[in-house]
Amino acid sequence: MKLLILGGTTEATELGRALAGDARFDATLSFAGRTQRPLAQAIPTRTGGFGGIEGLAAYLRDHAIDALIDATHPFAAQMTAHAVAAAQQTGVPLLVVLRPAWVPGPGDHWTMVPGMADAAAALGPVPRRVLLTIGQKDLAPFTAAPWHDYLIRSIEPPSVALPQARFIAARGPFMLDDELALLQSERIEVIVTKNSGGGATDAKLEAARQRNLPVVMVARPQAPEAETAPDAAAALAWLARRHAASPRGV
Ligand code: NAP
Repeated sequence: MKLLILGGTTEATELGRALAGDARFDATLSFAGRTQRPLAQAIPTRTGGFGGIEGLAAYLRDHAIDALIDATHPFAAQMTAHAVAAAQQTGVPLLVVLRPAWVPGPGDHWTMVPGMADAAAALGPVPRRVLLTIGQKDLAPFTAAPWHDYLIRSIEPPSVALPQARFIAARGPFMLDDELALLQSERIEVIVTKNSGGGATDAKLEAARQRNLPVVMVARPQAPEAETAPDAAAALAWLARRHAASPRGV
């Protein structure tokens, strides 16, 4: 089976590792090309946008793709919407790998907000020391709250300049002890994060809990209208079932 995996996540990398050397599948992993130094992958990769829904549909047809796995980040809503539309248009089966969202537990002080502008507003009128862990492309709304002292942590440098901001380049997974040390040394008073889910970046939430710090949590975009799997193992099981049922299978 020829597979196209839309990646940029831990799950996509894991799935690629599981598929490498599996004679049943011929998989290509696709990157948007956002990071300068992408991690090495176990299967062939391609990089760059497809050119919208039509471009993706053309790729699926031209490369005779038998199944499309959208393992992009839960906040990569445009790519996922394009995957849903292109799969409908071409009849190529689609599975969206969607890791469960984080939910607050005892000891958490989360303010849930629907979007990034609401997150900036939720920081309030009094200057605070803010750890911003939302990636580098959604920073613009924070220019409306320039009185806070921002520490921006992302893989790539910020795309927007904030008046009182410093940047640390870092890529998960993050460890609890490091997160606790960062909160302490930087005297962080509040964390802003997207509800990405998953274990690679959730240590900051445990650290906030231990330090009794508030978290502004940006809600996910609407879930796609497509079949979903919570992780790479479930996606692999889905693929194995499809392969067994296909005319070319076993
Ligand atoms: P997005 O806004 O949903 O997508 C914007 C456009 O980028 C898409 O329409 C597509 O261009 C291209 N694109 C996105 N993912 C692609 C992929 N895997 N392969 C080829 N083209 C892709 O996406 P985004 O939020 O900027 O995310 C970009 C990448 O970073 C994704 O791979 C995602 O998994 C990863 N990522 C995103 C976040 C996040 O918070 N958004 C966090 C961690 C990792 P065309 O329309 O031209 O096809």
